[in-house]
Amino acid sequence: MKKLYWFLFQAVLVFVFVGGIAMVHKKGRLVDYYIKRDLVASGEPGDQPVDSDRDTLFVIQKHGASHLHFDFRLEIDGVLVSWAIPKGPSINPAQKRLAVRTEDHPLSYAQFEGVIPEGNYGAGPVMIWDTGTFKNITYQDGLLVPLSECLKKGVIEFFLHGSLLKGRYVLVRFKNDKKSWLLIKIDDQYASLSEDLVKKHKKSIVSGRTMIEIAQQEGEL
Ligand code: MN
Repeated sequence: MKKLYWFLFQAVLVFVFVGGIAMVHKKGRLVDYYIKRDLVASGEPGDQPVDSDRDTLFVIQKHGASHLHFDFRLEIDGVLVSWAIPKGPSINPAQKRLAVRTEDHPLSYAQFEGVIPEGNYGAGPVMIWDTGTFKNITYQDGLLVPLSECLKKGVIEFFLHGSLLKGRYVLVRFKNDKKSWLLIKIDDQYASLSEDLVKKHKKSIVSGRTMIEIAQQEGEL
C-alpha cells in the first residue's frame, strides 16, 4: 500500500512539473502580445481557459486598423498563431494571398469582436468574419507532420470547417523572409474561380453586424 502511495505521489509531482513547464512555455509565447497592449485600456481578452474537449480553432477577424486587413489565426500548441492578410482570403486557387506573420494571440481572442480604442495598438473595429475548426493535413512520407514542426518548416496544409471558408488550404513561407507567407486555396469542391467571399460577406458571422455597426455600438467604451 505504501508503495502505491509513493507511486501516486511521484505521479502527481511529474504532472505538476510538466504542467508548470507547459504553462511557462505558453506564457513565453504570448510575451509579445502582452507587451504591445494595455488590456484594461484596449478591452481585448487575456489568456483565459478554453474548453479542452473540442477541435482546434481557427478564426478570421476583419480588422479596421490604420490599414484594413484580415487576421487569420490557427490554434497551434495552445495559442492562436496569427497572420495579417491585407487582401483577405481567396477561394480561387490562382489567387495567392500575402500573409504576414504577427504575434501569437491567446485562444480567448477567437471570441473577440469589438472596438480597440484610439491610442491603443491596432486601434479600430474588429469583426469575427469567419470561425470554425481546422484539421492538419500536412503529410510527409505518409506521416502527419505535427503543426509545431510545420511552423518551423514553413509549410502548413490544413482543412477548414468554417461557416464561410471550407476545404483545403496551404500556408507557405517565403524562402528569404521569415515573416512573409502565402495563403493559397487548394483546388477542391469548395474552390471557385469567380466567387469573392471577401466582397460578398460584409457582416460578422457571429453577430451579423457590419464594421460600421460594430464601431458605432462599441466605439464608446
Ligand atoms: Mn490586426
